[in-house]
Parts: sequence; structure tokens; C-alpha cells
Amino acid sequence: MSSLQDLRRILLRIDGRGYKAYKDIEGVYQAGSFTLFVDHVQGDPFAAPSRLRVRVPMKVAGFPGQTFSNRSRRTALADFLTRAFYREADKLERKSGSGKSGMISIDRPGQEILERTSVIITSEWVEARFVVGLPAAGRRVLGKVADEILTSKVPAIVEKSLFYRNLDHEALNLHITTAEDADALRAALRKAGLVAFVADGSILPRRSGIDPRPLSQGTVVTFKSPPSLSRAFRLPNRGVVRGMGIPEGITLIVGGGYHGKSTLLNAIELGVYNHIPGDGRELVVTVKDAVKIRAEDGRRVEKVDISPFISNLPFGRSTRDFCTDNASGSTSQAANIVEALEAGAGVLLLDEDTSATNFMIRDHRMQELVSKEKEPITPFLDKVRQLFTDYRVSTVLVMGGSGDYFDVADTVIMMDEYLPRDVTARAKEIASKYRAERKHEGGDRFGDITPRVPLSGSLDPSKGKREVKIGARGVKAILFGTHEIDLSAVEQLVDPSQLNSIGQAMYYAREKYMDGARSLSAILDAVEQDVAQGGLDVLDRRPLGDYAGFRRYELAAAINRLRTLKVRQIGGENG
Ligand code: ADP
Ligand code: MG
Repeated sequence: MSSLQDLRRILLRIDGRGYKAYKDIEGVYQAGSFTLFVDHVQGDPFAAPSRLRVRVPMKVAGFPGQTFSNRSRRTALADFLTRAFYREADKLERKSGSGKSGMISIDRPGQEILERTSVIITSEWVEARFVVGLPAAGRRVLGKVADEILTSKVPAIVEKSLFYRNLDHEALNLHITTAEDADALRAALRKAGLVAFVADGSILPRRSGIDPRPLSQGTVVTFKSPPSLSRAFRLPNRGVVRGMGIPEGITLIVGGGYHGKSTLLNAIELGVYNHIPGDGRELVVTVKDAVKIRAEDGRRVEKVDISPFISNLPFGRSTRDFCTDNASGSTSQAANIVEALEAGAGVLLLDEDTSATNFMIRDHRMQELVSKEKEPITPFLDKVRQLFTDYRVSTVLVMGGSGDYFDVADTVIMMDEYLPRDVTARAKEIASKYRAERKHEGGDRFGDITPRVPLSGSLDPSKGKREVKIGARGVKAILFGTHEIDLSAVEQLVDPSQLNSIGQAMYYAREKYMDGARSLSAILDAVEQDVAQGGLDVLDRRPLGDYAGFRRYELAAAINRLRTLKVRQIGGENG
């Protein structure tokens, strides 16, 4: 194997030459205490930066076994090391020269602790995957500057961020135990009959709509469960924790405007992920199969059976295999629910703020004016109970605008100046005192979820000369070949690296599992199982550092939003 001296020799030799000469450094170098891989050299200074890896033997890195002894800990340790590497790289990086010259960077996690490919930990070694903008003046190689980056700055970053002895042990331990406790709590929810849990003392509000760090200015009300909903769990590290349990079934969150309803629901939505210490939501956890649902007018829908909610469209258009390039508020919300159920959702989370009114409610007076025959929509109100009895799918719903839901709710939580109160008994009392005169319109069963088979030919990741071109635009869109998949209404996506891996997973699923016979849900099972077994690296032949963990629901959401998607229904009228 070459040494760092060999690398230096090449860099000094190509100094001043055309940028392409950098290709000569692709390879593997023994760098004293670690191994440096130069996997991919960028084509020019303005292209995506070059991809590198360092691998430190565990004996040298020195992490005690208990810091990565299970999946929770390993993921949290990798996350911690990614953050440490980012900080050190940020300190030493000096951008100068053309394009990305001088850049040294690694994936940058936010408030969540996600599985990532930025740092991989095995019992044998620790590997960090990062990028470097190989420096240039114009398009000429700056060999001496590159030498400083690769043979002096990178080793310094490695030593500071990947060696146990140089890290803050207390912070590392807190990171790991926080994630482990959250995972343990999440795993205990279903057995306790709960779908979510919000620990007393949690801080739910965020700084702003674009800053997900905890609110710290002004009055911040810390969370406290009402006595009747209070539950206790014993966690492996923190011991006993108390807080509000949200039971299975149908839960309404009511209360005046600006009293904290949406803030609570948002915290529950993101409770499917673990949070970093100091986030305020470390012990706000939700079962893994909880899916946020909202209206999303304008989206495309491909042969979704929305007949449980919508039938008798004008001019006899079918809703058993409903297609549109431009869904309305109500049809998009119906499709979002049916697609989530198809993907296996066990809990639906809805907020009136982002729901279509005519999808949620239809009161007595409107029933009198517009007869059932003239109204294609069966409101969610008449279906939410059946979802639970027929499919065991629970719902948590923010609804400050209509008391009609009191009839179907199991639990009613009122947010009152940011604090929850259990008003279930009072709501039931009101419901029996003032009977809603409206008629039930939902029939006696929810209806079938018709499975669909995605057709591989309709997913084309190619662009120009490139056979595969996949990327992310923040957390808002995936670029898949020449297509842009709009995910701005898929609210449980938190990290651009999730979109990278989802885009790649679409391609992986197409190549490996879309055979014209497998249903979408079977394909999701297969991909999920592969990733669980082999990690996110199974998705790509290249060792990339910018993939992050994602759920099957968001993968399904991306497939369903690809505007070219074609499917065949199984067993439906058109199967
Ligand atoms: P609602 O959905 O009931 O109308 P929101 O959840 O949108 O209310 O909250 C309204 C405002 O109050 C938001 O700016 C939010 O950040 C803030 N807020 C929410 N919960 C708290 C809290 N516990 N402490 C302080 N401010 C809060
Ligand atoms: Mg709100």
C-alpha cells in the first residue's frame, strides 16, 4: 500500500498542471494510525467535491465496547462522531481558490439522531466518509495546498474527532444513553396500549418555522401531563420517567387558537425519531408507524382506491382507481390516507390547519342542503372509528373547530395556555347533552385497501448521458432523472440525506424488486429488510457518506409522488 509520502510526491509532481491530473491520487494510503481512501476525484473545481474515507482500527480509535454494544448505541455513537468530525473540519477548512477549493466537510446532522453512512462503526474499525474540494487556481492543480489538506489537516481532524481519548466522554455518554432510552421507550409503547408519550419537562416549541432548535426566548412552558393520562416507564439509563401517554384509538387535541395544539402534534410527528440531548423532545416518542396526513392539492395520484372516502364523482368518474394530475384538497387527503394504509401505517396524525375542511366535517345543516347523493365525500368523521375497528389504525387529530368529533373520540386533550388537560368526560357529557343531529354517512365498514403493483418502466432515473442521476433539493424535493418529486407536503422528512437515500432506494427497488408482480407493500418490506440487515450501504455500490435512515412511509410517499408512476391494481375492478 502507498504511504502519505507517496501521496505527497504525486501532489507535488502534479502541482500547476491541469485539474484532471488530480485523478492520479485516487487510491488507498497508509497514513500512520489510519487508512485514507481517495474514492472519487471530482472532474473540475466546480463539480461536486471529491469523496474520501478514513478508516481507523478500533484498537487505535479506542472506543469502549459499551459505546456501540447495540443498534441504538452504535447509531448514536456514529452520529456523535459525525458531529465531532464536522466541527473539527469546519475549524480547519479554508476555502480559497476556484469553485469548491479547500472545502473539507462531512454530512451535518440536525436535531435528530438518524442512522447514517457518514460514519460506520464495526468492532474492527471506525470509518468516516467526507468530501474535499481539491484546490485549484483557475483550473490548475494547487498541489502544495492539497498536500497540506490531505497529509496534515485530515490527520488532525481524524485524531480530534475519531479517537475516543480526545472526545468529551460525558457528552458522548449522554448522547448514547439518550438515544437508547428513547428507543426503549418507543419499543414499550404498544404493550402499554399507547401510540405516543410526552415526558413531563419536555420542551415542545421551536425557535421558528425554519429553526428547529428549542424555543429559548420569552416564556417557555414545559410540558406536564394531566394526572389522568400520566404514565410511568422505567428506562435503561434514566430510570423512571413520567409523562402523558396518548392511548390507542381516537384522540382529539382541542383548545383555543394559539394554545399549542399544533406544536404538540408536531412533536408527536417527529417522535418517530430520536433527538439529541438538549433538544427538549428527547423523551417525546411515537410508535414507528405513525404517519402525518395532510391535504396536498395539486399532487398527482395514480390509481388509488379512494372509494372509502370519495365516490360518485361528477360524470361517473371512478374512485376505485382514481387518477389525477391535479388533486383537490379533499381527494389529495383521501389519497394520502389510503396510500399510508397501503404502506402499513398504524397511526394517522392530522391537523385541522393542514386539512381540507370538507374532508374533515359535514354538519347537519349541510346534509340537509346538499343530499348525500350529491356529495362525493364521506367525511373523515364518519370513517375514523371504522379505521380503528376494521384495521386497528389509531388517529390523533388536532381539531379546534368542530365538536362533532366528540362522538367518535376515545380521548380528548385540551391545550390550555400550552398545558394539556384531560377533558374527555366533559366532552362526552356535552356530546350527549347536545346531540349532533347529523346522520352517519360512512356505512358499516371502512372499505378495502386495494393493493397496487408499481411498474418498473415508469421509474426512469436517467438524465442525458447519465444512466442514473438522483439527488435531493433540501428536504423539499428529490431529483430523479429528469423528474422532480415534490415532497414539501411530506412533513416527517427532516434531513436532506434522507431524500438522497430515498431517491436511491427507489432506484434500488426498481432494479431489484419491481418485477410487475410484487405489490408496493411487498417491495417496501423487501427494501426495509435489506436495509435493516445490511445498512444503508446496500443501496449503493459506492461508499457514500450522505445517506440517512428513512421509513417505508416516506419511501412510498416519494414513489407515489413521481409524476410518471404507473401501477396495476391487484384484485380491484381493473386488476
Ligand atoms: P395552535 O395550533 O393551538 O393554534 P400553536 O401550536 O401553533 O397553536 O402555537 C402557537 C404559538 O405558541 C407558536 O408560536 C408556538 O411556538 C408557541 N408555543 C407553543 N407551545 C408553547 C410552549 N409550551 N411554550 C411557549 N410557547 C409555545
Ligand atoms: Mg394549529
